[in-house]
Amino acid sequence: MTLRRMIWAVGLVALGACGLGCTADNVEDYVHGEDEEMGDSVLGEEAGAAPGVRVPSTVTLDRRGVFYLTFDDGPSPRYTRRILQVLAAHRAPATFFTTGANLAGNEAIVREIEAAGHIVASHQWSHVVATTEQLRTWAPRQRARLDEILGHAHTRYFRYPYGSGSTAKEAVLREAGYPDGGIGWDVDTLDWCYASGTCSRAPAAFRSNFTGFVMSEARRRGGGVILFHDIQGVTANNLDAILTQMEAAGYRFANLPTAGR
Ligand SMILES: [Zn+2]
Repeated sequence: MTLRRMIWAVGLVALGACGLGCTADNVEDYVHGEDEEMGDSVLGEEAGAAPGVRVPSTVTLDRRGVFYLTFDDGPSPRYTRRILQVLAAHRAPATFFTTGANLAGNEAIVREIEAAGHIVASHQWSHVVATTEQLRTWAPRQRARLDEILGHAHTRYFRYPYGSGSTAKEAVLREAGYPDGGIGWDVDTLDWCYASGTCSRAPAAFRSNFTGFVMSEARRRGGGVILFHDIQGVTANNLDAILTQMEAAGYRFANLPTAGR
């Protein structure tokens, strides 16, 4: 078993440890390691119908040739600043869904994200499929922590790890000041799947071509919210090429609406 496989297996154990019997106090905070082969992709079509996978209709977006860049699972001391540099070079705004357990020690990066004009948002305290009770504890905890780091209230956007929402969790989020519930995505880049260079989940033509896959998906959808992870080196290394190709294809970048949020 390679180290990466081992980390992945540990991650699955952490996920499994947080089943229905899990409470907020008996699970350790779990975050993805950098370049770990796990992301927020949803397995199976059934999960796609649950709240949290798609972008809720309360978030009004113009998807005609417009992409809304989002980066999950950070902040990453290794990659987030590199991604910020690429975004600045392209004048592209983005939303960073930060994992609460990743905030300690990375507070300066969080402030740099906002200072660069991007949105700082919540990606739950611990990167697991939370129970409703856990979310009831974690949602206000991360709101308070992000607000403390930024010195003011952060925008009220939240994304579930793995898009793992439910009707009950949506109610918890609204009570905690996330009025839209979970923010999903339209395009999944599968960047985590490309961590080792080849992604078996991608179509054969793109299995070893991350940039080609992202462009193919972008063309297929024509606009919308696009999911990356700022803990993935493959994203940090290829983002400049991707944004350059998207610009050449005539696409624009915008950020999620912040008025009233
Ligand atoms: Zn995630």
